Amino acid sequence: MTIRVFAGVDQGTTSTFTGLYDEAGRCVASARRRSVTSHPHPGWDEQDGLALLAAIEETVAEALAQVHGAELAGIGIANQGESVIAFDRTTGEPLSPAILWSDRRAASIVEEMAGNVQRGQVEERTGLPLDPYFSAGKIAWMLRNLPAVREAADAGRLAVGTLDGFFVHHFTAGAAFVTDPSTGSRTQLMDLDTLEYDETCLAAYGIDAAMLPRIGDTVFGEPLPIRLGAPLYASSCDQQAALAALGGIDAGDVKVTYGTGCFIQANAGPSPRRPGNGLMPTFAWSMGQNRAWAIEGGVFTAATAVDWLVSLGLAPDAASVSALADEGDPEHGPTFLPGFSGLGAPWWRPGAAGVLAGLRASTGPADLARAVLEGVANRVADVIDAVDKEQGPPEVLRVDGGLSASATLLRLQADLCGRALLPAVNKDSTAAGVAGFAAMGAGELDLPALAARASFHPPIEPRQDSGWREARRARWRRFVDATRGLDP
Ligand code: ADP
Repeated sequence: MTIRVFAGVDQGTTSTFTGLYDEAGRCVASARRRSVTSHPHPGWDEQDGLALLAAIEETVAEALAQVHGAELAGIGIANQGESVIAFDRTTGEPLSPAILWSDRRAASIVEEMAGNVQRGQVEERTGLPLDPYFSAGKIAWMLRNLPAVREAADAGRLAVGTLDGFFVHHFTAGAAFVTDPSTGSRTQLMDLDTLEYDETCLAAYGIDAAMLPRIGDTVFGEPLPIRLGAPLYASSCDQQAALAALGGIDAGDVKVTYGTGCFIQANAGPSPRRPGNGLMPTFAWSMGQNRAWAIEGGVFTAATAVDWLVSLGLAPDAASVSALADEGDPEHGPTFLPGFSGLGAPWWRPGAAGVLAGLRASTGPADLARAVLEGVANRVADVIDAVDKEQGPPEVLRVDGGLSASATLLRLQADLCGRALLPAVNKDSTAAGVAGFAAMGAGELDLPALAARASFHPPIEPRQDSGWREARRARWRRFVDATRGLDP
């Protein structure tokens, strides 16, 4: 008997995950490869582009080998968003490492841009504040600092952009070099209204549109033949695929994904909207004329801080950090600002670093673990407060991601946000979402049917009252303010 499946590839920061989903959306097989991130300088986060390609190929093959009689009907690939790579468009050979979204090396480019007369237009057209987080600054950094990239640009051989373009170029043997508007909206080069590269943004960063992937649709009108055993039907930024798989298809629906960073997205409906309150607009998905936008806030440091405690030897793994945190002092412990990669929404402090305050001789490992989880939960609450101001409080928060396995974190989150959390049963929503997009491309699924596949554990209700929450949140905001003086 054959089982017809769609593959969803989540090429994420900590790992590449491929899930195979049957006609009912059940994950029938999966495979994962951990990624290696190197930090050649403080604030630099790099991966090897060829290793990411190999991880995609290997996880698809490994997952398929697990299902007897599997018929792979189509593939969707989700990418890391702002992360970029440069390569030679004639040979496909990488000319740079993959420079990750969390990498801060473009800080000096962004500082220069702050004085650029076109700054206002760049921010208005893309809807994004200046920050080294976005792709444009990273690409400008490569053009200035990597001779191989400059030479290829001068010779007209340079291809550069978000990782999706590199994957598609490679898997189609150079026949296609495309991105989609959900990923394009993270570059700070795409006009949010026209979904095309904007000349003012390109000029401000010194980037030529000819170097970049063409912006197509999230769900392709025509599938691309690729050498992974089935056609590629969809390509999406990771967070937006997760939003769809978590059932966030109606305006106002909010999801929180706890991974390396933590990304909060609210569906904003079918028209572009430029939010205030330190939030940013992002494109959600496009299937021909069917389009959706979202508003987003990112907490750039989440699981990274938990994994940092593991690297210090505080606990053997992330699950143990979470268990340890449960024993931390809830009232008199230290306070931690998770700012390893600057602070994103709503504060936008690119130069911020992590801060640990309130240490005493009695502070122990459990108190540190608790401080890290509470710091992440407070940063998420900062973004949720902004979302509340922007569009009114969502009743529930749909949550997923590797770090959402921490019951301690989710309890703190429900208390600090004063509302219920709905933890997804499937922690790999991104892969499920992009596999669903692929099935849509093949005409075998629609968005409501994808959303209907979302399933949740019983809600986690807040246990603290509003007095506790307001006092705790006010104390946190005073702390965040006090750390401002430490930014360079
Ligand atoms: P990303 O998509 O950004 O690569 P993931 O969503 O895969 O990240 O989350 C990975 C992180 O989740 C790990 O780095 C780890 O800190 C955390 N994690 C994984 N398992 C657990 C667990 N059982 N309890 C708590 N945290 C966990």
